[in-house]
Amino acid sequence: MPEAQVFDVVVVGSGGGAMTAAHLAQKRGLRTVVVEKTDKLGGTSAYSGGACWLPGSDVQQRAGIADSTESARTYLGAILDHPDRDKIEAFLLQAPRVVAALEEDPALVFEWLPFPEYFDAPGRVSWGRSIQPTNVRRDELPAEVAGLVRPPVERDRAGEGGRNTLSGGQALIARLLWAFVRDGGTVLTSHCVDGLLREGERVVGVRARTGDGVVEVHALRGVVIAAGGFERNQAWRSEHGVPGDAAWSMAPAGTNAGEPIAAAVEAGAATDLLDQGWFCPGLEQPDGGGSFTLGFRSGVMVDHEGRRYANECLPYDRFGRAMAAAPGRIPSWFVFDSREGGRLPAIAMPEGDPAEHLAAGTWVRGDSLQELADRLDLPALPETVERFNGFAEKGLDEDFGRGSDEYDTFFAGGDGPDKALVPVDQPPFYAARFVLSDLGTKGGLVTDAHARVLRSDGSAIPGLYATGNSSASVVGAVYPGPGVPLGTAMVFASLAAEDLAGS
Ligand SMILES: Cc1cc2nc3c(=O)[nH]c(=O)nc-3n(C[C@H](O)[C@H](O)[C@H](O)COP(=O)(O)OP(=O)(O)OC[C@H]3O[C@@H](n4cnc5c(N)ncnc54)[C@H](O)[C@@H]3O)c2cc1C
Repeated sequence: MPEAQVFDVVVVGSGGGAMTAAHLAQKRGLRTVVVEKTDKLGGTSAYSGGACWLPGSDVQQRAGIADSTESARTYLGAILDHPDRDKIEAFLLQAPRVVAALEEDPALVFEWLPFPEYFDAPGRVSWGRSIQPTNVRRDELPAEVAGLVRPPVERDRAGEGGRNTLSGGQALIARLLWAFVRDGGTVLTSHCVDGLLREGERVVGVRARTGDGVVEVHALRGVVIAAGGFERNQAWRSEHGVPGDAAWSMAPAGTNAGEPIAAAVEAGAATDLLDQGWFCPGLEQPDGGGSFTLGFRSGVMVDHEGRRYANECLPYDRFGRAMAAAPGRIPSWFVFDSREGGRLPAIAMPEGDPAEHLAAGTWVRGDSLQELADRLDLPALPETVERFNGFAEKGLDEDFGRGSDEYDTFFAGGDGPDKALVPVDQPPFYAARFVLSDLGTKGGLVTDAHARVLRSDGSAIPGLYATGNSSASVVGAVYPGPGVPLGTAMVFASLAAEDLAGS
């Protein structure tokens, strides 16, 4: 039996929340270990765009945009259902502080990222208030850091590309990891945490499965569970009614199946929002996976009869929820023309090879819309496209208002509804099959304003913290804007680190 390892803090998982907790705890002098299930660090966070919704920080001030804690409070107040006011207030007050704490370190630099927020509501900041870590060149990083960061999504899932410059989520993970190991932090990979060690009421460490058997990692101060949701666990999805499918989720293969959430429940933790996720339309791949798709530039999405059911340019979570809202929409067909040479007029991560899609039947081509309608049994398709083309001519989508919001036109590259209303009129035509994908589930452990895990009677389990998709999201069933998954994960991670350090 190997000797048990002892640290002050054990962080389970290695996404944006985990690495923020680990870096800030280590920086405060707590001996910290990151325990990660796979052989790479970063999880879905490494795939991400790295947008962080952290309102009111110096970064937005430096960019001169009209952001403030007050306007963020107004915005959340306008869009959230039944918010936990203590936690929202903790989030708003801590967001600028976590950015300041991170930017104290030369390895961590952020910049404003133009990306509109997802609701036209009071307090919204035009063109968004999210921030992102600046890019970092691979050769600037210590080799052990560069080698540990999960590759970008198109490389990890489709073997495409390769980058000498890490951007977005990869840059976030690389920068946090860089600071963490430089300060003496420890990383254990290929350790699947599936149990918590307890002494009486207190959580004092974790049990993990490794290639060499089961090991115990002890935590003198506490354990932070930041191991994603359970999006890759189909049995749990079915049990809790999460729409979509484990195979269509964007979480990297072999990652988030919820073992640490189950371990916390065994230790008495309460859970909430278990039917929720960060949803998105997913381009179905020949291997049965789904690719997160956003930024549709032309084309229409139709249901099993060939009818549109929502504004295709909606923010992706809102579109995903529209897919799940009625039967006959999963799968949907996205019908587009040849104006982009037979490529999907949208950003799909990854898109895949059109020829492979056509061979697999996940895409179908027709010389006319009638041919597509006949082949796919979408009787209403020709009439739907004719009506949509009429809207394009008028510059007004009378059915779903496509093009009326700044988000709709952001990816189409210009102002005005006509940018989002492009006729579907250049043969041959294509239909791509879409499923309901997600960026992760967001129901999980109930936590308080210090990220402490709570029992159902509201008491805290000593020594146990959670953040990110392992915890029930502070924004409930709503996705307010770009960067909310990471921003909220990082804020509650920093609150956990402060609590662990006793400050
Ligand atoms: C293409 C794409 C772009 C996105 N862009 C953004 C964006 O710009 N901004 C934003 O806020 N969000 C974005 N998201 C969503 C966001 O990435 C995720 O919702 C968020 O990163 C989840 O963070 P997490 O820490 O909870 O989980 P993850 O980042 O998935 O990390 C969980 C880690 O825990 C590990 N783990 C799981 N189980 C165990 C176990 N039993 N033991 C040990 N380790 C375990 C996993 O292997 C994984 O490495 C995007 C998602 C995708 C797919």
